[in-house]
Amino acid sequence: MAPNMRTGSDSQSCQVPVSLLQALKKHKYHLVGNHSAVKKCKWLHESLVHGRTCYKEKFYGIRSHRCLQMSPSAFYCTQQCLFCWRAQSGDMKIAWNETKLPKWESAESVVDGSLKAQERILSGYNGNESADLRKLREALAPRHVAISLTGEPTLYEHLGELIAAFHKRAFTTFLVTNGTNPSKLAELSEEPTQLYVSLCAPNREVYSRVCRPQLKDAWVKLNETLGLLPSFRCPTVIRTTLVKGLNMENTKEYARLIDKAKPTYVEAKAYMHVGFSSLRLSFDHMPSHGEVCDFASRLAEEIGYRILDESSDSRVVLLSRLEKAIRFDAA
Ligand code: SF4
Ligand code: SF4
Repeated sequence: MAPNMRTGSDSQSCQVPVSLLQALKKHKYHLVGNHSAVKKCKWLHESLVHGRTCYKEKFYGIRSHRCLQMSPSAFYCTQQCLFCWRAQSGDMKIAWNETKLPKWESAESVVDGSLKAQERILSGYNGNESADLRKLREALAPRHVAISLTGEPTLYEHLGELIAAFHKRAFTTFLVTNGTNPSKLAELSEEPTQLYVSLCAPNREVYSRVCRPQLKDAWVKLNETLGLLPSFRCPTVIRTTLVKGLNMENTKEYARLIDKAKPTYVEAKAYMHVGFSSLRLSFDHMPSHGEVCDFASRLAEEIGYRILDESSDSRVVLLSRLEKAIRFDAA
């Protein structure tokens, strides 16, 4: 074994460079077991300390201070999107094989480890006089999980069990996938509360340039996933991360793809110049909220959806055929 590599729990496990683990820790990722991670969302902090909440609280009633942001597949993905905030192989001259998968740990151990990591994160607010005490007490019993932090979650073998394990603990679950693994989605033993599929290109050519797929036929697989979406009972979302100058044209082509998926919602959202994406894109690639609104209006017209809501803080616009969004307000 190379001295700077760590293995998983068996000799076949994918090796993750120690320098990557160090970089992730520096970026405040809490590693869970051999392949999962939790990270404090900036909106959890904003909610606790400044009373400002994320757009999913505004749109869907998800309470930012009770949200746990995690990934069961922190080091592995089938794409290398330019706009991604995660560390990718090749960033900072650290290379590993993102598609060579490890021996996966059980869903229960990933959930338990994630809850402990969230507790550690929240313990940082003990004695913080700026934190809202009532919210802090509630935050210690999280009720929502965003399975979306980094990496492609459908690569995790026990994804259905993971969702079920969170549901058993009374969580709502939002799952975000890049759509390159339709067979895994088709066989999910438990649906999430809401399912997101990222669609960040109107055609194969832009997809190859912006999402940099690591699989053969990834575009075909993504299209297969779009075709699967109408079979889900849960609300579905097509999420488009908009990068100025790269993928904000061709709303007609986007519309044709979205029509296959017939999603409950479309979220058109600006790329944010944060995390490791700043190694690949510049600040000028972030569209303004006005530019996102303009794209969303053109798209809404093409697909016959209405503009339901928007958040200028996150530069996101919500489209739907519904008159109002389905909410999951709990405590
Ligand atoms: S729902 Fe998303 S944006 Fe809102 S607090 Fe959770 S991770 Fe952050
Ligand atoms: S699919 Fe998601 S995790 Fe993978 S590179 Fe793209 S944005 Fe990052």
